[in-house]
Amino acid sequence: MNHHATTNHERITILEIPFDSIKNTEVLTLVLEKLTGNSKHFFVATPNPEMLLEARKNEQFKKILNTTDLNIPDGFGIMLASGIIGKPLKERVTGTDCMQAICHYAPEGTKIFLLGAAPGVAEKTKEILEKRYPNIKVIGTHSGFPAAENDEQSRHLINQSGAELLFVAYGAPKQEMWIARNLPHLTHVKVVMGVGGAFDFISGQIKRAPYWMRKIGLEWFYRLTKQPTRIGRIFNATIKFPIVFVISLFQKR
Ligand code: UDP
Repeated sequence: MNHHATTNHERITILEIPFDSIKNTEVLTLVLEKLTGNSKHFFVATPNPEMLLEARKNEQFKKILNTTDLNIPDGFGIMLASGIIGKPLKERVTGTDCMQAICHYAPEGTKIFLLGAAPGVAEKTKEILEKRYPNIKVIGTHSGFPAAENDEQSRHLINQSGAELLFVAYGAPKQEMWIARNLPHLTHVKVVMGVGGAFDFISGQIKRAPYWMRKIGLEWFYRLTKQPTRIGRIFNATIKFPIVFVISLFQKR
């Protein structure tokens, strides 16, 4: 952590969280540069509207999102907010898409570890990823638990595997807190990324919204029909976030 990206792109702030105004291809270039180089512990997060609301009441989470190396906007709401303040972010990147793009272009033999999701899901994800991207090697998977008392076991497995690229799927804010606590102790990890429900999507546990729906900002609606229990979270992203954001604009004046 704390070594910032080498491209000279702009960073903007939304509700006290920095975002990198950077295209998907530039994200990829940066990550690949870290994977082939000798640097370590490059921390990528994909903050979305719900995470920004969470950061307002969780000081520790807010601090973490201010020390990551790259924050790429995940969510239509973030894109809109950046446009409203006159600093439109270049592109939206979801954790799932970013993870797959990284796997696709990762150097031959890149060692990957998948941490998180329900038992069996990471293994299924490994099978699919290795079939789809023969250049990578998923050398370890572990469902584990995000609570600190399990850190030592997970860390041991990751360090022993020699993983250089780590994806953590515990959902926000647990995955970012896990990464912040453990990253200094991960011996070979060059790049780490919190990916939320990505393993569920890649392994086919949960279907993703059709492309056209994602394109017009209706992914939340699709997810509501598939997982109605997410209604509280969807309310936060589509109703509460815009209100809190607009109020914050008036408070600044
Ligand atoms: N998860 C987990 N352990 C936990 C909580 C969550 O492994 O204690 C996993 C869960 O199985 C899922 C992911 O974390 O794969 C979070 O998914 P969610 O859809 O909530 O992600 P988000 O929408 O926050 O990106």
